[in-house]
Amino acid sequence: MQPRKWTTRYHWYTDKPVTWADGQTWTDFNDPIPFVRPELQNERLALCNNCDSYDKVNFLCEKCQCFMKMKSKHPDAKCPIGKW
Ligand code: SF4
Repeated sequence: MQPRKWTTRYHWYTDKPVTWADGQTWTDFNDPIPFVRPELQNERLALCNNCDSYDKVNFLCEKCQCFMKMKSKHPDAKCPIGKW
């Protein structure tokens, strides 16, 4: 399979090993895992940090109950109240 081409500035991908919470490690990717670039993730997290719905202790959004350090990396993720 040909790797997908990520041409917009928002996309970034990893072919580095990914370690999951259960200790399992993936090193072999048929298809890259797309993430937003770190600059865009930081822009999103800065908006969350100034939001009244952000639980800064647990990094959770109280509107969508998502773990924002992870959600902010996803290219298709959206703020439930339209801040990003
Ligand atoms: S995703 Fe939106 S509503 Fe949730 S904490 Fe971030 S800015 Fe606030």
